[in-house]
Amino acid sequence: KTRYLTKVTDLTKIILENAIKEGDIVVDATVGNGHDTEYLARKVGEKGKVYGFDIQQIAIDKTKERLQKNGLIKRVSLILDGHENMDKYIREKVSCIFFNLGYLPRGDHKLITKPKTTILAIEKSLKILKPYGIISIALYTGHEGGMEEKNAVEEFLSNLDQNYFNVLKCNFINQKNNPPQLILIEKKMILGSDEE
Ligand code: SAM
Repeated sequence: KTRYLTKVTDLTKIILENAIKEGDIVVDATVGNGHDTEYLARKVGEKGKVYGFDIQQIAIDKTKERLQKNGLIKRVSLILDGHENMDKYIREKVSCIFFNLGYLPRGDHKLITKPKTTILAIEKSLKILKPYGIISIALYTGHEGGMEEKNAVEEFLSNLDQNYFNVLKCNFINQKNNPPQLILIEKKMILGSDEE
């Protein structure tokens, strides 16, 4: 049965159903256990490409294993480096960037994404995103440092110029105990730009 609102990222996937086309180039900024990387690799198809970042070797290894098992590894570049350095590796414009912040589930809960590097990575993502491309950011506030990160990301994004970006925040308003939140960003088409 299709789930629409069970996880915050369910909504992202509904939107990405149309926003990602076969052959597209996309980014998983936080590969973790590789669930989202696998999803993205399937969406872009054989001719597409996924760049995946994580700072933990264990996350890269688990994701690699998952992709190999599913015959998807050829279309994915797994990079053991912070997403804040994505411009070192990506030269193309991309149609989607996925952030799933916080700690690695079933991993070290102390190794978390941090406001400064997350915002730097979002700034770089905004630059490499194609017009009508989507950035999805899942935010968690239940762990130490999570609320600070959410506030910093929200403050940064609420100041983005609406002439260039649409920024949508989604909350589960009836859930207790720090439910996850989702922010979706769409880049607008700028008339007269070379990206038209
Ligand atoms: N999307 C993943 C999945 O499908 O399993 C879950 C991601 S998990 C919530 C967050 C990941 O971000 C962790 O694996 C962590 O190591 C990674 N991370 C932390 N700081 C990072 C950074 N600066 N750049 C890239 N990844 C980072």
